[in-house]
Amino acid sequence: MRLIMMGPPGAGKGTQAKFVAEHFKIPAISTGDIFRANVSEGTELGIEAKRYMDAGDYVPDEVTNKMVRNRIDEPDAESGFLLDGYPRTLAQVEELDGMIEFTGHQLDAVVVLTVDPDEIVKRLVQRAEVEGRTDDTEDVVRRRQEVYAEQTEPLIEVYRKRGILIEVDGMGEVDDVTRRIFDALDDIPQS
Ligand code: ADP
Repeated sequence: MRLIMMGPPGAGKGTQAKFVAEHFKIPAISTGDIFRANVSEGTELGIEAKRYMDAGDYVPDEVTNKMVRNRIDEPDAESGFLLDGYPRTLAQVEELDGMIEFTGHQLDAVVVLTVDPDEIVKRLVQRAEVEGRTDDTEDVVRRRQEVYAEQTEPLIEVYRKRGILIEVDGMGEVDDVTRRIFDALDDIPQS
């Protein structure tokens, strides 16, 4: 199973990615989590990524692509994976296509969580209080939403054209959203 979880900042990608990955017994690979781990460990990658993250901008493609390639090459990702937060640009889509093609497999589905923008702001403000993420301030959140609309939203059409897009209503209780995702994924053929 090779899956992508997409959605605007605050859509609940990370939360749902964990449940879905557990269900299919595949690793959830979150680029945001990997960047944050590197930032807190003070690695070179972390120092570079932090500048962009704190501004609400995307980390340059070369940096992100290399990081994902290394992660996908690890043995636990051999039988499948769920990507959370990648790809986010058209160049990353191409790069990922190459990585998957190289393994002789294919992408099974792209799940997009749809949420209402007011709900998102509410969730992110709450998350800022709980987790203290430095990129959850109102200005940075607004910038992240802008960048998502500009650079990531176009990916939805790309995957729709390929016939692997699954749109799921991300509103309501976490459990209900999870059930909707499972129901939708149960219907797809697995590679
Ligand atoms: P969000 O809630 O905004 O979706 P993430 O935890 O997925 O948050 O990502 C946090 C930040 O990490 C992004 O704003 C960006 O700076 C960086 N990042 C994560 N994934 C990518 C990616 N695929 N390409 C470029 N930058 C990324």
